[in-house]
Amino acid sequence: MHRIYMDNAATTPIHPEVLEAMLPYLREGFGNPSSIYEEGREAKKAIEAAREKVAQALGAESTEIFFTSGGTEADNLAVLGTARANAGKGDHIITSAIEHHAVLESCHYLEKEGFKVTYLPVDSGGLVDPGDLHKAITGSTILVSIMHANNEVGSIEPIEEISLICREAGVPLHSDAVQTVGQLDVDVNQLGVDLLTASGHKIYGPKGVGCLYVRKKTRLKGVMLGGGQEKRIRSGTENVAGIAGFGKAMELAAAEWRERSEHVRPLRDRLIEGLLEGISYTELSGDRYRRLPNNVNVRFNFIEGEAICLRLDFLGIAASTGSACSSESLEASHVLLALGIPVEETHGSLRLTLGRENTAEEVDYVLENLPPVIESLRAMSPLYHGS
Ligand SMILES: *Cc1c(COP(=O)(O)O)cnc(C)c1O
Repeated sequence: MHRIYMDNAATTPIHPEVLEAMLPYLREGFGNPSSIYEEGREAKKAIEAAREKVAQALGAESTEIFFTSGGTEADNLAVLGTARANAGKGDHIITSAIEHHAVLESCHYLEKEGFKVTYLPVDSGGLVDPGDLHKAITGSTILVSIMHANNEVGSIEPIEEISLICREAGVPLHSDAVQTVGQLDVDVNQLGVDLLTASGHKIYGPKGVGCLYVRKKTRLKGVMLGGGQEKRIRSGTENVAGIAGFGKAMELAAAEWRERSEHVRPLRDRLIEGLLEGISYTELSGDRYRRLPNNVNVRFNFIEGEAICLRLDFLGIAASTGSACSSESLEASHVLLALGIPVEETHGSLRLTLGRENTAEEVDYVLENLPPVIESLRAMSPLYHGS
């Protein structure tokens, strides 16, 4: 059997049409978009065409799109840039306990500078309660940042309800939509967000490029200082080929999101049901229904996720433990802990995230090969024998 890639929340393969859109700018179209001669003008044209595509995909205006080096930078810019622009106005930020590290670390950084941050809890399914947000807003709140869907457990947050609360309080709302673009309908006006993050490599585009959507009149100060590109919000010579590829990837995501989610949802359900029924002492992490159509996150008690992943790799399956972001440290995932899952149970987590290239045969292969792996690892586990 060929390799089976089931880690699409970590990154995705480049779509052939995206690669085609990029190649001209890696070859002859090398001009610096700030140059006034022809090569520069052509590069500038490519960037503006991509900006138009991204804006259209999000239901935004092209003047509201700022290209960045990816999701991390866009999240940093949203949090730090809002804090810098509103420093005289207030010093309170509200976010959730399950945000991506790009948001959480930005908040921790601001706390060291004297800002106050409220980390909203989530329920056992990974969902924020809008009522908690309502209670947390004060006169000095300058930003609310709640992700559209979580990258580890796939929980889809009630952003539309959250945005109504923010609107009423006059507080800007940022949402990290890195995991929802291409899977759900991501329209900035329907969601009611003022700032929104997207990333190329999670949607069959290239790595190292993404954007921050900034609603007109939202106060934001650039973080990267230099030549003043992107209307002084993001200095640095533009990643022209990356931006061209990102534009194409966003266009495809907007055109295909429904089809893509209809493709992966039944595969997800078959995996969840097959694993829960086929393997004892197994539980699903995250809400069963308010869940990204491609996300499976299960925990097998008594064993280690790392060991499961290594065995799966050997069998030709690429999967992740709780989160790719934490694969370099053995700390328990902050997301799983926030869901109230006991530390010892978090360690046995396995995340399978599906994509447009996965098939029912691949799901069957996983369902056939995973149970013996779990059984064999448990046979070696003193914890299992003690149960
Ligand atoms: C991957 C990811 C990011 C980071 O995006 P990069 O482009 O890899 O920097 C941010 N937020 C979420 C939810 C993600 O899944």
